Amino acid sequence: MRNKIVEFRNVSFRYGEEQPWVLKNCSFEIYENEAIAIIGHNGSGKSTIAKLMNGLLFPQQGEIVINGRAVTNDSIWDIRKDVGMVFQNPDNQFVGTTVQDDVAFGMENRGVNRNEMIRRIEETLSAVGMQEYRLIEPHKLSGGQKQRVAIASVLAIFPDVLILDEATAMLDPRGRADIMKTVTSVKEERNLSLITITHDLQEVVQAERVIVMNEGEIWDEAAPRDLFAKKADLRHIGLDIPFVAALSDELRKAGIPINHEALNHEELLEELWTSYSTM
Ligand code: ADP
Repeated sequence: MRNKIVEFRNVSFRYGEEQPWVLKNCSFEIYENEAIAIIGHNGSGKSTIAKLMNGLLFPQQGEIVINGRAVTNDSIWDIRKDVGMVFQNPDNQFVGTTVQDDVAFGMENRGVNRNEMIRRIEETLSAVGMQEYRLIEPHKLSGGQKQRVAIASVLAIFPDVLILDEATAMLDPRGRADIMKTVTSVKEERNLSLITITHDLQEVVQAERVIVMNEGEIWDEAAPRDLFAKKADLRHIGLDIPFVAALSDELRKAGIPINHEALNHEELLEELWTSYSTM
């Protein structure tokens, strides 16, 4: 049985008393080493969930528990060691004049000693493939490199949960895939829980479980394959269907039997071979 790392218990949140509720009675659990995707159209409440997880915001109703500890004003400094977050725009996240200063910054704030800091800078920059850029000024890096450094800075704190809030949205598909590969390998090495927040359904295929948000409510929780089978419903709540899933539907309409929902091109090809050989 995996340890429970994140728990939302009947959480409701609004940005002010006169404002509408942006999260309505949300409950879910996330376990150690789980890869979770949170998906939903813009404004469905995804970023608000992320901010509640590390005490940037507090719910008006319900409770959030991280690693067995309720998120309160008293616990947020400990909670923020457990929950690391990387956002969409890396430029807003840099504070250091060099890449290594930047990775050091979060550790300085948490009183990590110098030798340990040097060790962790080395370890995390090499984990994200940025060791050679140690002495470079962050603003000289490409978008993908900046996100790698932002991820290294968070990993240097040794969190239990890593949240990527649209963190690869500004990258091209190749850069996006590269970063996800890196993050997935660090996740396995460190036994991290990984939460990827995105509005792009294509991004969820690597997740074990997908939490679908709609209008501030949890609309569904399912494995990616089961989710892709609900295409019409997903379109209805404003989500774009991934290319492979849409193509599978068109093939079915054309009379080619696609029996299993494919997650990627390779699986669809396999399906086509199978149906071709039985036709
Ligand atoms: P998502 O990440 O799914 O796009 P958000 O959590 O950012 O959704 O936003 C949910 C809702 O809360 C939206 O309607 C948004 O306009 C509103 N909202 C977000 N941030 C603020 C804020 N600082 N003040 C008031 N309303 C906000």
